[in-house]
Amino acid sequence: MGNIQRLLILIKPDGVKKSLTGNILTKLSEAKLTIIGAKAVKVSRELASEHYKQLQDKPFFGELIDYIQGKMYGAPYDRVFAFVYQGEDAIARMRKIAGATNPEEADAVSIRGAYGRITTKGVYENVVHCSSDPIEAEREIKLWFNPEELTENVYPVKTEKITEEKKVWA
Ligand code: UDP
Ligand code: MG
Repeated sequence: MGNIQRLLILIKPDGVKKSLTGNILTKLSEAKLTIIGAKAVKVSRELASEHYKQLQDKPFFGELIDYIQGKMYGAPYDRVFAFVYQGEDAIARMRKIAGATNPEEADAVSIRGAYGRITTKGVYENVVHCSSDPIEAEREIKLWFNPEELTENVYPVKTEKITEEKKVWA
């Protein structure tokens, strides 16, 4: 057990709309990794732009932000399911199961090859996001999850007194 990694997986809004959540999680479970965080997220414009900030100069950036927010699907599909997985060589193993970025080039039995499509606007609707390397994975996990939302302490934390108002159960 030499190379324990963590990564962010998102079931994108097309996966939610196509009712593929169960199929995708079953496929991903072949890697025998541990889920250390999971939640449903309505993606804000800010979160979407920060998540894909490396792609901000691409011609498809605007479409990509709409896509990850599920704009074209509307309620109740305008959301993603976010997961943090942990385990040996987790990133390469999950990217293999996810398949290539372009669903037409992805292995037919990968998640993207089986379920992805290219829209008429040219966006790769490829059903899942999968972190690409350890540095990106850490950045993405810290962007999408707070420390207390993960079952393990995977990165250093500090404590702060927060005085903001916060919603609690009524
Ligand atoms: N994407 C696209 N067209 C492209 C490249 C990327 O629509 O030519 C979308 C696609 O949904 C992809 C996302 O942008 O998953 C992020 O691109 P990246 O190159 O990071 O691919 P990934 O890491 O998701 O395989
Ligand atoms: Mg990427």
